[in-house]
Amino acid sequence: MLIVMKPDATPQDIERVNEEIRRRGWTPNAIPGNTRTAIGITGNKGPVEPEPFRVLPGVADAIPISQPFKLVSREVKPEDSQIPVGNLMVGGKTIHVIAGPCSVETREQIVGTAQSVKKSGATMLRGGAFKPRTSPYEFQGLKNDGLELLAEARKETGLLVVTEVKDTATLPQVAETADILQIGARNMQNFSLLEAVGEVRKPVLLKRGLSATIKELLMAAEYIVAKGNTRVILCERGIRTFETMTRNTLDLNAVPMLKALSHLPVFVDPSHGIGVRKAVPAMMRAAIAVGADGVIVEVHPDPPRALSDGHQSLDFSEFDRAMTEVRAIAGALGREVARLG
Ligand code: PEP
Ligand code: MN
Repeated sequence: MLIVMKPDATPQDIERVNEEIRRRGWTPNAIPGNTRTAIGITGNKGPVEPEPFRVLPGVADAIPISQPFKLVSREVKPEDSQIPVGNLMVGGKTIHVIAGPCSVETREQIVGTAQSVKKSGATMLRGGAFKPRTSPYEFQGLKNDGLELLAEARKETGLLVVTEVKDTATLPQVAETADILQIGARNMQNFSLLEAVGEVRKPVLLKRGLSATIKELLMAAEYIVAKGNTRVILCERGIRTFETMTRNTLDLNAVPMLKALSHLPVFVDPSHGIGVRKAVPAMMRAAIAVGADGVIVEVHPDPPRALSDGHQSLDFSEFDRAMTEVRAIAGALGREVARLG
């Protein structure tokens, strides 16, 4: 249920509605919006009767929400959410490009990559310090040393840092460094981790699980928002199909579907999505063309020598060329690719 307040509702009117919700043992969730004040109700087990709310002072309407994901749905918030990240704004007309290596490896590698991708037009730096790897014998990341190197790269370039949080145990230290916390595909339904990042006041990039449906991705986002963290960015990163020529199948269907179903910004990860270096720029362009609010791309100074995901990482000049094309497509659609000053 969504309680929509009249434009002239007073703070007392809003508090009265909140109290009525709490009195029934449910949770009121403020839905910030430009055009109206609304309060989403969660925690109800059965249906909510709209009438007792409709008669309260300052209430314009009480609308049932038909989707199981509520706070992230377009029904509760018709306009696009814009998410502040540092001094940048994600979502809306502007497109952001996040770029960097799969894993942080050395100071030279991460700072050098940061400088180069910044020059090409990225606004944020990616790099894994805690890596979820399929094999326990593969490189697991530099962990806390990697976080320190990311902070150094940020200091050198001004790029904001996106890095993965793998578990609740390491969340405090990752949250201290990250400007955006990435929840990896393998953790999309790690509900304790989702709830934990819901309590942290940092934006979250939530990647779609390897075999997760669009609805499951939205339900995972709902876990985070229901805990009070509204700064969630959805990320399509490819799903498992019968195809073996590509690492995953980048489901670009998900972009317009997510945009229609949810007010949250939607990013695309073409690197993991197709997993083939030469094909990544085409899928970057495609992501922008279908309406993504940004892309996250793996870039490495020397892809064949990368400690992880070199086969899908662009080198500096490939990334630079791809950015020119991305800007052209964004421009054709009346959008702009953000740049750092
Ligand atoms: C990554 O970003 O390097 C990564 C492991 O991504 P995903 O969780 O989408 O596989
Ligand atoms: Mn990777």
